[in-house]
Amino acid sequence: MSSNRYPTAVDVAIVGSGPTAAAYARILSEEAPGATIAMFEVGPTVSNPPGAHVKNIEDPERRSLAQRASEGPGAGAETVVSPGAVKSGARRARPGTYLLEDGFAFPGEDGLPVAAMSSNVGGMAAHWTAACPRPGGEERIAFLPDLEQLLDDAGRLLGVTSRAFDDAPFADVVRERLAAAVDSGRDPAYRVQAMPLAVHRRQDGGLVWSGSDVVMGDVTRDNSQFELFDESLVTRVLVEDGTATGLEVQDRRTGTTHQVTARYVVVGADALRTPQLLWASGIRPDALGRYLNDQPQVVFASRLRDVTAANIPPAADGALREQSGVSWVPFTDETPFHGQIMQLDASPIPLAEDDRIVPGSIVGLGLFCAKDLQREDRVAFDDDARDYYGMPAMRIHYRLTERDHEVLERAKDEIVRLGNAVGEPLDARPFVLPPGASLHYQGTTRMGLTDDGESVCSPDSEVWQVSGLFVAGNGVIPTATACNPTLTSVALAVRGARKISEELGTALAVPGSVTTQIRSPR
Ligand code: FAD
Repeated sequence: MSSNRYPTAVDVAIVGSGPTAAAYARILSEEAPGATIAMFEVGPTVSNPPGAHVKNIEDPERRSLAQRASEGPGAGAETVVSPGAVKSGARRARPGTYLLEDGFAFPGEDGLPVAAMSSNVGGMAAHWTAACPRPGGEERIAFLPDLEQLLDDAGRLLGVTSRAFDDAPFADVVRERLAAAVDSGRDPAYRVQAMPLAVHRRQDGGLVWSGSDVVMGDVTRDNSQFELFDESLVTRVLVEDGTATGLEVQDRRTGTTHQVTARYVVVGADALRTPQLLWASGIRPDALGRYLNDQPQVVFASRLRDVTAANIPPAADGALREQSGVSWVPFTDETPFHGQIMQLDASPIPLAEDDRIVPGSIVGLGLFCAKDLQREDRVAFDDDARDYYGMPAMRIHYRLTERDHEVLERAKDEIVRLGNAVGEPLDARPFVLPPGASLHYQGTTRMGLTDDGESVCSPDSEVWQVSGLFVAGNGVIPTATACNPTLTSVALAVRGARKISEELGTALAVPGSVTTQIRSPR
């Protein structure tokens, strides 16, 4: 009996199963329904439908097991529930993620001590907070004329809504108070507003998080030409004469290695492992791994003043609490930080257990800063050392510049001002999280308008050096964003997927021009 569970040839091979990889599967299923698509994910399937957010799992023990199963080499290590909980100074990952064992910092540099990854079907979006704001001002990619439309498409794929917490009793209170402190002189688009979120209602009415399952949608799951292979580590992209021809995959269930030929290869393996796979494949453009950026982050907490307990039923198991929602203070070029003001399950547990505290009245404030981009900030790879999966080990070189420190100081002042505006501060002073805490790593496979050595891929996300090879994920974002990046990276994935769909459409129209056998769609 053959131990090979993989096809020998497909039209499109996708590496990773996070929201950006899922966006390729979705757009291809919608727009190139005859194409054969195989998705390879190194981690296990931990939720149902595959890629669903693990916090939606109702049974706490099963939820915790799903988180552990996503933590690759870190499974079993102690984790912290909220970003503020790292105040202890301990180097810990968030549930469902794991940290680099070594190579995260070098002497004289800041490093990214809490740079994290997830290894599971759905990627980090099976564990995320689902905030999907649009980039503004200099966060936007000026050379993409269709960015607005792409962001709309990404919003559709992620099921983004700003109305999820419309009935939350304290949402308006929080926003009114923030608005009074922030809105004066701002263009309407940049004023305080409800945070756009990727959430949806379960059949029982419970509000739950969306993940890659929502991005894939039924159109992908029902696509008989689409197959997802979990526990499958892609070790190499195969290239012949400057064109991607397929990939090499190691079946982690059997340890066997196989080759799959493909007309197109998409690598959406996160901002650290996408450049790792390109490096391992001998695809090493100058810009690979460079301009790495994480959003320096400041947190603070406040208790809403003058509010009385609202009659809100407790959330069902695996659903979100709906007292106060999430508010957004948008980034502007003048105030280069993005505010995420939230209650949700970010409320500090010891306070929530104090029954004198009005439920929903504890507000967590977070400001993410735009990084001062530097070419020398990079993830490099060591050909002589291997990581847990046997891939070239990561070596992170990363520094906060003087400008970063200045912006952080401004963000600290601003977060105290916002905390005072909404209520009574609970912290004596704001806390700057260790680098890597944002979980928003960008720039490592950045997009550019031309192949000038400063970018890895074209505006369609196709790698300059290798035709037919596309990169996906936050690493593709070339700007210094402060806002949560997933909406933007899904938008860029939509553009890349359309390029492939168009080319496949032409190929599918010419019998025999496609390398694989195409069955007709159902
Ligand atoms: P990922 O989701 O990281 O998926 C990459 C996948 O590739 C992984 O599953 C990995 O196992 C797989 N892979 C890697 N290498 C290989 C290989 N060689 N072979 C096969 N598979 C491979 N973002 C926001 O925008 N808003 C938020 O509110 C937000 N909150 C967050 C909160 C938490 C706690 C966490 C953990 C993340 C949060 N993020 C948030 C970040 C967000 O989850 C990521 O931006 C998003 O998931 C990135 O999508 P991706 O498809 O690029 O990569």
